[in-house]
Amino acid sequence: MEKPADRDAHVGHVHTSHVHTSHVHAPHPDHAPHSDVPPADDTGGPGTRGPDARASDIGSGQGTPPWLSASLNHCTRCGGRLRHGPVVGEDRDRLACEDCGHISYVNPRLVVTTIPITDDGRVLLIRRGIEPGKGSWAQPGGFLEVDETVAEGARREMLEETGLEVEVGEIIGLYTRLEAAVVVVAFEARITGGTPTITPEAMEIGIFAPDELPWPGIAFTTTIWALRDWLARRHPAVPLDEPGLYR
Ligand SMILES: [Zn+2]
Repeated sequence: MEKPADRDAHVGHVHTSHVHTSHVHAPHPDHAPHSDVPPADDTGGPGTRGPDARASDIGSGQGTPPWLSASLNHCTRCGGRLRHGPVVGEDRDRLACEDCGHISYVNPRLVVTTIPITDDGRVLLIRRGIEPGKGSWAQPGGFLEVDETVAEGARREMLEETGLEVEVGEIIGLYTRLEAAVVVVAFEARITGGTPTITPEAMEIGIFAPDELPWPGIAFTTTIWALRDWLARRHPAVPLDEPGLYR
């Protein structure tokens, strides 16, 4: 599922260092095209997703994903070698320094996204200009910076990617993706100003009526989830009956 080119997006930060080596604007943090995600056990039809709102069948409690551990080799405090395994006083295996004992805790990163809505109630999506998901539709968003609030991050990403200003509204949903070590929050947002601008991240800006969303061309599982959850809240009459798109 993980493509090597995507892994740069997932080089996790270690919260003891408050540093991560990934780039906010490079690969979309919600990396996996939904067609790459294995089927969930729960395929109960429209409106459902995997058990506990998971994007894949990767299990909980399995510790740091191997692709992420592979990128964490040295202690951020002393430069010593990190070893993954049991640590006294810890309830799960950790990455600990062989020299100084410093534990490198690995936590998911937050991806802040918006579902921008126009004055006449349509949805803005961007056609992605970079991989992953290049050429497909997704909502604007990116990694939250350590020095901003979630609303600030949502406004910043929207402005950077589309040239448009938004007023950030209610949370549509919060989605865990264990396989990518990210948590994605999607806000409803009202477009308030700016000039639509094509950027390297957005090769096209699309405006879609709620019942004309480009489902087959959507890049990411979490985009589908957020749009589905938004429709359920704002436009419950719009049918969610396209098999395979709503898991
Ligand atoms: Zn150390």
